[in-house]
This record gives sequence, C-alpha cells and structure tokens, in this order.
Amino acid sequence: MSAVEQVDVLVVGAGMGGVCVAARLAQGGQKVLLVEREDRVGGRASSFDIDGFTINTGAIAIENGGVMEQTFADLGATLDLRYPDPANVFRIKGRTVNPAKGGWSFLLDQITKKGAKVLAGLGSARKGELPEEQVTLADWIGGATSNETVHRLFRNLSAAIFAVNSDEIPAKAFLTYFTQKGAFRNFGFHPGGTVAVCEAIAEFVVQEGSQVWTGATVTAISAERGRATGATIRRADGTTVEVRAGAVVSNVGPVATIDLVGEEALGEGYVTATRAASRPSANIIIHVASREPLLDTPGLIVFSGTERLCNAGNMTATCPELAPEGWHLTVVYAVPRPAIGEFDVDGELERSLQELRDELPGMAHPETRILDARVMHGDWPAQRAASGYELPRSTPLDNLLHVGDGVRDYGDGGTQSCAVTAKHVADELLGVTAP
Ligand SMILES: Cc1cc2nc3c(=O)[nH]c(=O)nc-3n(C[C@H](O)[C@H](O)[C@H](O)COP(=O)(O)OP(=O)(O)OC[C@H]3O[C@@H](n4cnc5c(N)ncnc54)[C@H](O)[C@@H]3O)c2cc1C
Repeated sequence: MSAVEQVDVLVVGAGMGGVCVAARLAQGGQKVLLVEREDRVGGRASSFDIDGFTINTGAIAIENGGVMEQTFADLGATLDLRYPDPANVFRIKGRTVNPAKGGWSFLLDQITKKGAKVLAGLGSARKGELPEEQVTLADWIGGATSNETVHRLFRNLSAAIFAVNSDEIPAKAFLTYFTQKGAFRNFGFHPGGTVAVCEAIAEFVVQEGSQVWTGATVTAISAERGRATGATIRRADGTTVEVRAGAVVSNVGPVATIDLVGEEALGEGYVTATRAASRPSANIIIHVASREPLLDTPGLIVFSGTERLCNAGNMTATCPELAPEGWHLTVVYAVPRPAIGEFDVDGELERSLQELRDELPGMAHPETRILDARVMHGDWPAQRAASGYELPRSTPLDNLLHVGDGVRDYGDGGTQSCAVTAKHVADELLGVTAP
C-alpha cells in the first residue's frame, strides 16, 4: 500500500456523468480525484481505433442545447461538433423521409391516412395529458392504430433513443421525452470521436488543479457511521492507494456501487430495493467500412421496416477524419428482443446482421466490411436503467451520490441526461440552490 491521498470529492468512473460532475466540482473549488478503470475516459461515450477508423463505444450523436451545451459554456470549453443537415430522417417504404418538412403529421401521412388518433394523442401529451405509467408505448400506439409500419416506426424510435422495444417502455416516459426534453432534434458528431467530448471535460478537471487517473480501478469504497470516507484504488502501475474523501460520487451505477461499498454499510432495505428495481437494457452496435456511403443522408436514419435494426448514422459525411482516406464509416444500431432481461445474444446479433444486409444494398459490395459488432449488455449495457425505471441518485450514505444514465431524470435520455445528473449532484455537493 502506498501513500494515503486526501481529496474533497472522489469520483468513481469517467463516463459522461463522471467527467461532467468532476469538472463542475473542480470549478466549484473542490479538490477532485476522478478515477477511471479503462485507459481512456468516456465509458460508453468513448472511442478507440481499428485500422484507422474511429470506433465509438456507444454514443455518437451529442445533443446541443440544454445542460450539455451549458456545461461546456460554464467551463469555458468548446463543444466542437459538426451538425448534419438534415439531422434525422426516416426510411419509410423504401423512401427517405425528412420529418423537418412537416413533423409527425407529415411523417405519419407517408404511412397511413389514418394517423389522426396518433396525432391527437401526441397533441394531448404536449398539453401535459400523459397516459398512466403502466401503459406501454406499444399499447398506446395499439389504441390509436393497427398499422404495422406505424408500430415498427415507434418501436424503432424507442429502440434508437431508449434501447428498448415499444412493449418495454411506458408510453408516459417516451412522450415525456418527445414533448418536454431535447429529443435529439439538434445534435452533432465530433470529428475526433465521442471520446474527444469527454477528454475536453476531463482536461478542464486537470486545468483546475484536480486529478484524473486512468487505468485505475476503485476496488472498494469505505464507509463509517453512515458516511462514505474514501476508497481503495489499484493504479495502472499495480500500486494500491488509499484515498480519504469528503464525499464520493459513483458513475458505475447503483448496483455495481453496492459491490464496492458492501451490503452492510448500505443496509439491507436499500440493497434489496435497488437490485429489485434495476432494469438495464441492451443494444447492438455495428461499425461498417465501405468504399461508397451506405446511407443517402448525412445524419441519422430511423428504419421502419425492420424488427431489430433501428437506426444508423453516416459518420463520415460530416466527419471524414473518422475513416482513412477513400473510406466511409457507418454506425448501425439494433435492439434485441427482449432488450430488458435475458436474451439469445448470438441469435439476436445474427438476426441484426441479417437485417442490416437486407436493408442496406451497399453491404453486398466486396470491399464493404464489418469493423466491429458488439452486444452491449451485462457490465456494459445500452442503458443502466431502462427509461421509466430510473433509480435514485441518493444513497443511505448522505455523502455518496450517483451520476449517470442509471439515475437520470424520468423520461430523459442520452449523454445529455448524464450531464443533467452531474449538474444535480454537483449543485447538491456545492450547496447551490436553484434560483
Ligand atoms: C450503443 C450505444 C449507443 C448510444 N448512442 C447514443 C447517442 O448517439 N447519443 C447519446 O447521447 N447517448 C447515446 N447512448 C447513451 C450514452 O452513451 C450513455 O447513456 C452514457 O454514455 C452513459 O454514461 P454514464 O455517465 O452512465 O457512464 P458510463 O459510460 O457507464 O461510464 C462509467 C465508467 O465507469 C468506469 N468504471 C466502472 N467501474 C469502475 C471502477 N470500479 N473503478 C473505476 N472506474 C470504473 C467504466 O470503465 C466507465 O468508463 C448510447 C449508448 C449505447 C450503449
């Protein structure tokens, strides 16, 4: 065991929630230690290289506007995004449809002349009239139309944004996102890969005089008399360090945090309730290299004829730096059935790949190749809490708090929602009260 360190706040995990909270706390004058197990920051909002292609570990579309943009503005850092135009389109009956031309009404008109009840439901939701919690999105759409393409479209939208099937998400959570949150209307891709977004925030932490340790694993969080007191950390060089901290923020999710703190310190009631309420969801991410663009749009496209494949992003249309010269990079997402709980991992991956080959003709080109295809589940889920099943940020230890997508606000989504959790927790620890 080497020297004991003393910090104001220890942040466990440098995912989007972790880097954002560390930066806000460092800016607020706290001496922060941000500890990340991997050799790079970002977690599921990170990137790595395969053959000169930048492969993102999860997030590609970074929302502008809202707390994410505000975080960068507050830190005086630049959020260097490139904005595809159009940002979002849909593939409907073999055609690419841009909803910017007329919103939901225009979109539904491309599928059925009987979309009026769906539109009426969306109108009511905008006025705050939301369905009961137990009504799933599939039930809600089923009450308005039996049109199969409309059902698949909404399934694929909920898969693309929330990584769940439409029978796994409360309609209320889905509608809350579309009527009250950013809903990915305004987003960009980073030419350095999503890791660059998190690196910019982590660099700010260091500039403020705090520390970021990568390749370092928190092996235990210590607690005494109802408070977290610090942690044991195994560093990249193999040494073990004991850190004393005035507060601990965990970005590893409430269930994994139980393993670090121990059941006794947290109490049986909290431990049992947290494990019982935990509903992570899964998705599949596929990176494809091709000589010609696989998509006829520069941003994201949502499919409406598929059952697993949900959306895809044309990365190199706006960010050619993400591929070697002469190549294009496409990211394709699929969501298994079910997305919550156990599923046939190999079978779902194979089915998703088959739908990809069926949906995008460019897959048949002899030089097109799959660079990486991974199923996000277990320790690396798509979402640590499926939408509508978010867990509390607080714990029985009053100075141990959570950030990240397991504890986001109800009906929120994406990396933006992690930045929101970071703001809530930083404000709490800094004693900031809302104006
Ligand atoms: C395939 C996919 C596509 C997505 N697409 C988008 C998108 O386009 N746009 C968008 O906004 N969102 C997207 N998301 C969602 C977004 O990526 C996640 O919600 C977000 O990145 C989660 O961040 P987090 O703060 O919860 O931290 P996480 O990413 O979960 O990071 C936690 C970190 O903790 C570290 N850690 C774990 N245990 C320890 C330990 N004991 N000691 C030290 N470190 C530890 C991990 O290594 C990890 O880096 C996508 C997600 C996936 C999976």
